[in-house]
Amino acid sequence: MNIGAIRGTAGALTLTALLTTGCGTVTASPDVQDPTPAAMPGARASTATAFASERSEVSGGATASSAGGLAVSAVKVVKVAARARPVDCRRAKCVALTFDDGPGAYTDALLRHLAAYRAKATFFVVGQNVAANPGIVRRTYAAGHEIGSHTWSHPDLTKLPAAGVRAQLARTDRVVKAAIGVVPRLVRPPYGAVNAAVSRLTGRPMVLWSVDTLDWRHRDSAKVVRKAVRSVRPGSVILFHDIHPSTVRAMPRILKALSKRGYRCVTVTRLFNGHPPKTVYSAGLT
Ligand SMILES: [Zn+2]
Repeated sequence: MNIGAIRGTAGALTLTALLTTGCGTVTASPDVQDPTPAAMPGARASTATAFASERSEVSGGATASSAGGLAVSAVKVVKVAARARPVDCRRAKCVALTFDDGPGAYTDALLRHLAAYRAKATFFVVGQNVAANPGIVRRTYAAGHEIGSHTWSHPDLTKLPAAGVRAQLARTDRVVKAAIGVVPRLVRPPYGAVNAAVSRLTGRPMVLWSVDTLDWRHRDSAKVVRKAVRSVRPGSVILFHDIHPSTVRAMPRILKALSKRGYRCVTVTRLFNGHPPKTVYSAGLT
């Protein structure tokens, strides 16, 4: 849909070729189709970078033309890129891949897999792991992924007093803000345990899931692939854990399969077109 609009407005064929659909066809070009949602402050920086890279890429391809033509086409392409809208998940087949419990030793490898397929994901990070690895969270966010909170030390929030719930969230907010400059807008309660009190204390969308790969239990890449690919529906929120190498190893196969089926891998916020509901159990958007 974006591609059609771009073709119609500027006829920038080089750019059109870069903007492939799906969870992402394998390509080295930056993703301008699914910039981090505008609600996330880092979006501007990453989008601007993407546009800048794209301009240089397109300019580079135009060196055979005259200098004047080059300048015009570069400007045209930047304008086209600026018009490229994020994925509209009311129309596109979207899926939100979510990764809990990190960051960890395999997160960087996962980022490479996601980048290769131009997929965006949401990482529900554990505060104490962020404190130990702030650089990974920075890289994750800079790559256009969404960072959500998975509490400081992964307790069942429904079993904590109000002060305990607040402390779990506040401590995590602080380390995430120190790492990326913003606090998480989404929370995934450990074990999916949520009640009215926790929801009220959290004051942010509580994001559960619609597909559980059970990757933490079986630690088997083939099973992770099977479960994710067979259960996915438009609007699914799929639960993974990036602290397990078996899960990270499964990702290229999953991304390839989703791409083949026409899915767009987006952040949770993008899945809801910028406005996640109070409690996100799954989706099944219409
Ligand atoms: Zn967890």
